[in-house]
Amino acid sequence: KMNEISTVGIGHRAGSPGFVQLVFVDINGVPKGMEIPGDRYEDALTEGIAFDGSSISGFQRIEDSDLVLKPDPATYTEVPWEGIARVYGYIYKDGSPYGADPRGVLREAIERLEKEGFRAYIGPEPEFYLFKKNGSWELQIPDSGGYFDLVTLDRARTLRREIALYMPSFGLVPEVLHHEVGKSQHEIDFRYDDALKTADNVVSFKYIVKAVAEMRGLYATFMPKPIHGFPGNGMHLHISLWRDGENAFIGEDGLSETALHFIAGILKHAKALAAVTNPTVNSYKRLVPGYEAPVYISWGYRNRSTLIRVPAFWGNGARIEYRCPDPSANPYLAFAAVLMAGLDGIKRRLEPEAYTEANVYEMSSEERARLGIGTLPGSLGEALDELKRDRVVREALGGAYGNFVEYKEREWEDYLEYLASRDIPMETKKVTEWELERYFHV
Ligand code: GLN
Ligand code: MG
Ligand code: MG
Ligand code: MG
Repeated sequence: KMNEISTVGIGHRAGSPGFVQLVFVDINGVPKGMEIPGDRYEDALTEGIAFDGSSISGFQRIEDSDLVLKPDPATYTEVPWEGIARVYGYIYKDGSPYGADPRGVLREAIERLEKEGFRAYIGPEPEFYLFKKNGSWELQIPDSGGYFDLVTLDRARTLRREIALYMPSFGLVPEVLHHEVGKSQHEIDFRYDDALKTADNVVSFKYIVKAVAEMRGLYATFMPKPIHGFPGNGMHLHISLWRDGENAFIGEDGLSETALHFIAGILKHAKALAAVTNPTVNSYKRLVPGYEAPVYISWGYRNRSTLIRVPAFWGNGARIEYRCPDPSANPYLAFAAVLMAGLDGIKRRLEPEAYTEANVYEMSSEERARLGIGTLPGSLGEALDELKRDRVVREALGGAYGNFVEYKEREWEDYLEYLASRDIPMETKKVTEWELERYFHV
């Protein structure tokens, strides 16, 4: 393995074994890790590397914080601009998988799907903004392009390509790069893969985007709504389940029963899911009418006002698009929760309400009520209350549930205190400085 490590890194000296970065994520999905000299990698694979988890957001308390990280060699890649290797791992405690390890939580969810004969594939569409900033939180916009603008207005296009060129070193296959609707907002889609690999890919992707932006003197942010009145950053998820090597969402003539049950499961648990797929105070500033972000719990074909859209691709491309998640989500926890909600629909053979092709934003509340269309939570506080009431989503988070709720409730209370201290009304949909400070780097 040592020889596979690139030797062109910053500070690398000939003959040294290079370094390997061992990566896990905290409760927020933020990558954390430590670096070891390359000649310790074999030991790390067998024994793991011990670390102190007491200061990791949402991990152990001080009394009981001895954790061990074991690399998962299937995830071994390189950070080309640093000349080091990088690998994701699983966390252990006292010899067993550590319950609050997000990667372990997703692995368990995947095993539960496998027991029912399914394999899940996910393709994300992460959106982000590029900003200049100087000390204060006044964000400056380096390009004033809009949706799909190519040249004249889009000063960030070379940066976007540079990100895409680095992606294969991290095992990601870039597919589409484009300017998004917001000034200075961008999207890069990469190839779908099985759920665990895609969650790793989301973490790697955000890491690459932020690093490349910084190398070019800009800041990338994935916060769901950086500026009031501008479009938010979503991370739509394209999901399909496969069984015996075949797409289980393909029916005789459109979607299969399995797909319809899966949709019904997600719609049924959508309110509680929001706490996990939209886990920040700022997430709920995005989920408002007028910016192609979902507000109501509905589904449809083509229709982009719905929470779940079924793209018009049959055959092996058959899938659903879940439009609620945003890139502040911990992808491991979010995927586990969404997949278990869908699986619940399959196991209980739930049927979705009729689909809608009308624009749900333009319906009256009576009409939505008649069609059985509910509303997503309006705040992190509401979403957490829904999560506490939903056994399926709670269980999907496994050993991370307690830590997650505790951590997020404190986050919500901190925000309420901030609002009170500034006399800002609780219902405000404006983006506060507290949010920029806390979430700009999510
Ligand atoms: N930015 C929108 C969102 O918040 C999505 C826009 C799009 O991709 N059509 O979800
Ligand atoms: Mg897209
Ligand atoms: Mg988009
Ligand atoms: Mg989309």
